[in-house]
Amino acid sequence: MAFLIDGKQISQQVIEDTAAEVAEFKTTYGIKPGLAVVLVGEDPASQVYVRNKVKRAEEVGLNSIEHRLPATCSQQALNKLVDELNTDPMVHGILVQLPLPAHLNEAEIISAISPDKDVDGFHPLNVGALACGEASLVPCTPLGCIIMLKTVFEDLSGKNAVVIGRSNIVGKPMAALLLQENCTVTMVHSRTKNIEALCSQADIVVAAIGRPEFVSASWIKPGATVIDVGINAIERDGRRRLVGDVDFTSVEPIAAAITPVPGGVGPMTIACLMKNTLTAARSQVLARALEREAG
Ligand code: NAP
Repeated sequence: MAFLIDGKQISQQVIEDTAAEVAEFKTTYGIKPGLAVVLVGEDPASQVYVRNKVKRAEEVGLNSIEHRLPATCSQQALNKLVDELNTDPMVHGILVQLPLPAHLNEAEIISAISPDKDVDGFHPLNVGALACGEASLVPCTPLGCIIMLKTVFEDLSGKNAVVIGRSNIVGKPMAALLLQENCTVTMVHSRTKNIEALCSQADIVVAAIGRPEFVSASWIKPGATVIDVGINAIERDGRRRLVGDVDFTSVEPIAAAITPVPGGVGPMTIACLMKNTLTAARSQVLARALEREAG
């Protein structure tokens, strides 16, 4: 039986630690860190995500600012809002909920957000900094996965890690973070040959594919640690259920540690968004202090 990596509990700890640090930040600088969340349109899943982010932000003591734009809004109107948030001193983090309606250019919006306020870590400058191993705002889901892995391993150095999936929001930043932790990293994707053989040598498998229960027991080395990023809604026995990208039932008996779905990586993502907002506020306050000193 594998040890269950409890995302609810670990994320609660991240939330509590962040809340305590936010309170200290407010006392020290007299500033309440602000997170602006922008939702375009009425996609039901996005509405739930935004509601949860706003609720969590309030819980940790952030100034939570929500902006809603109609699904028909123009690129120009969205750019204008992002520009205003970029220069608003009360806003330290900006998140534009993705996906955007099809007529809007996501890459343009991501690049329009000030890299200092890019709490999603998607801006090309932050992506580049992460690739160079420099301190940057890091995408929330892979950051959450690293925090979870560190509850299992004191030191990730020298571990063989396989990341399944190469998306910009999960797979690629996950691989970069594991490399920073001195893992030996293999990335696999839909064109990889022999995925099963590559995975079955790994000490750590991170699955971010978007295919329900795709990774089965024969892919996993006995005693490996498995992080399941996938969130897939399926119908089973006439009921709607959420399952991961890993076949939990067959993998759990042979893994040493595994994240459940739900209750694994999911709650970590929002907790890391709060952590990133505080990180962004700190570096903006420091940058302003340095500017004042310089001149
Ligand atoms: P994505 O952008 O669709 O990327 C999926 C990746 O999986 C791609 O790189 C794709 O390879 C690879 N892939 C697809 N089929 C494959 C196959 N048969 N064999 C090997 N690789 C295959 O998805 P994503 O945004 O990274 O999300 C992945 C999963 O994580 C989804 O279930 C999503 O809902 C979930 N997710 C969860 C959270 C959270 O907070 N827990 C956050 C983000 C995402 P190619 O590049 O070759 O096409």
